[in-house]
Amino acid sequence: MRSTPKYLHAFLTLCLIPGTILFAETHVIVDDGQPRAVVVVADNPSPTARYAASEFIHHVELATGVALPVVAESDVPHEPPGRIVIGLTESSHALGIDPADLGPDTFVLRRVDDSIFVFGNEDRTKDPLDERNAASGTLFGVYELLERTLGVRWLWPGELGTFVPPTDSLAIGELDETVNPALRFRRFRWNRVEEALGWRGASREPGWIERDHDLRYPEELERIAFSPEGLRRHGRDLVVFLRRHRLGYSEPKPQVGHYFGGWGERYGDEHPDWFMLSQDGERGPPPGAGDFQIRHVAMCVSNPELHRYIVEEAWDGGDILRLGEADTARYCHCENCLSWDGPQPGDAAGRIISDRYARFWKTIRELAVERNPDVLVTTFLYVNYFPHPLTDIRLNENVYGEFTPWSRFMVWYPTTEEQREWQRQQWLGWAKTGITMAYRPNHTKTGYVLPHVNTWQGGEFIRFAYDHGMIGIDYDDLSGQWAVKGPEHYMYLRLLVDPAQSIESIRREYFSGFGPAAKHVERYFDYWEDHNHRLQEDGLWHDIRFNPRYAPRQYPPDVFPPAEAMLEDAMAAAREDPSPEFARRVAFLQTGLEHGKLSVRFIRKLVDEHPDARNALQELVHFRREHESLHISSYVNAARGELRYFGDEIDALFQDADGESR
Ligand SMILES: [Zn+2]
Repeated sequence: MRSTPKYLHAFLTLCLIPGTILFAETHVIVDDGQPRAVVVVADNPSPTARYAASEFIHHVELATGVALPVVAESDVPHEPPGRIVIGLTESSHALGIDPADLGPDTFVLRRVDDSIFVFGNEDRTKDPLDERNAASGTLFGVYELLERTLGVRWLWPGELGTFVPPTDSLAIGELDETVNPALRFRRFRWNRVEEALGWRGASREPGWIERDHDLRYPEELERIAFSPEGLRRHGRDLVVFLRRHRLGYSEPKPQVGHYFGGWGERYGDEHPDWFMLSQDGERGPPPGAGDFQIRHVAMCVSNPELHRYIVEEAWDGGDILRLGEADTARYCHCENCLSWDGPQPGDAAGRIISDRYARFWKTIRELAVERNPDVLVTTFLYVNYFPHPLTDIRLNENVYGEFTPWSRFMVWYPTTEEQREWQRQQWLGWAKTGITMAYRPNHTKTGYVLPHVNTWQGGEFIRFAYDHGMIGIDYDDLSGQWAVKGPEHYMYLRLLVDPAQSIESIRREYFSGFGPAAKHVERYFDYWEDHNHRLQEDGLWHDIRFNPRYAPRQYPPDVFPPAEAMLEDAMAAAREDPSPEFARRVAFLQTGLEHGKLSVRFIRKLVDEHPDARNALQELVHFRREHESLHISSYVNAARGELRYFGDEIDALFQDADGESR
């Protein structure tokens, strides 16, 4: 399923009639500050239609100051004359489009005389904020309309991040189209926050978000991240925000996972021949292996006995057959497996075992179709089988691979053109085998709480992959550093909705939210993007991927003053505008940078075992709490990194504090 190509941009020019330049063919909704239309919903609207209508009214009011009345379909007044009909209604049915014929999350935008229709398929049992609600067309249609007609931009979670250009009048031109989602699934994982909220696995019946779930918020996390109330508010604002960016599953994402993780423990003794042969001639995990290595032993994937067991016993015969390898870079050295590999390149980059794995998937699939002709074999394209095959082995679309750059093939942006070209070639090589492909990168989690910004390179790869068959994206994961990585987060979100949009236009959208300060803010983020290029050139860059320990070296005190001066300039420009919102957004950036500085100062004191570390921690936690409703940072992610590498030290600082207070 592909979208109507370039629909966003083509219709933006056709439909957007800004401000007061009106002509006869437009449908007037608000004119000179007066309502000229009502919002119509069914007499008994679905939760999605009800919510979509409230979202429409809310944003129109932010733009025009006019709260459009919402009326039930059987109770529509004669005046004002205009109607915005949101969701499935008697009158939308009269258009002759059967919603059941619309694809998942597809929506119709149509104007007929004085009525604008926005609807998709709806499911009354599902909540509009549930990412698994694939009957969200009505809601997505409203967001599309808000973006096009009012220029609404959702820059970060919460009210301040919602940019709605003010206008006295709103009118909509000709409209007649059906829009499919460009990607089948659009995911930006935020598991850590979800987990702390107690939302992971919780049922999402209508209204779930308003209920007070029991938090699963460990004390050590709570004392350095959000207050419980702050966490709940952050979570709710985040869910609303991510749905405005249409995150979700229009079709279920095929399950992959490290399927063979744990097989070593279960079958290792009875069937050693199913497992990898090491170079030393031993089957299974290496002698003296740790728990992780024991759990994650690679398989002997050319073993026919293993094939039979997988297809006849392990697999349930359902539509998905998972073959994601255990999470390891090791592989089988038996003669048979080695003979399945392609001709190795001359350089010493390490063995490429992609042909062996491609043949494994193909073999399993051929056996499995006897039980279920519709079976989809799923896997990662990962570690030593990340590079494309070296032979011209052909698979088909019933093999699903998630392109996952990792270990020695990891791409941490920014990077060299040579490496980016190499990555594009790997995508093309896999696409040539005929498999179905999605993208599952890890680079989005970098940077701790610092302005580790990359807007140009990472997005260009997504545009490329979309041009070459990508069906979905699963970013692992969203670091949620909204104030210091804002343009980068925004860029990745926008590409989920329209993977063909240019990076330049996405950046322009983001910076436009700062009004007269836009140029200064752009310069500010470019300063940090340049800084990251320098880190990469100096070979210092990669260390910060997860571990805050390296932050003091990469963000020494002298990198901050030039950036602060740029934000001062931005603030001066923003203050020239009578509306306070632009200055508040610049202040948001300043607060985020201050948070980054306080965090890095604290880490430096920890690393140096400085006696003042406890004060630095107290100051940091105080700052976090004081600004927690702004959403400058998903503190939970920051705190998890701090605890992972400095858990004992931080605990000791709290013990000292308790000791003193007694
Ligand atoms: Zn083998």
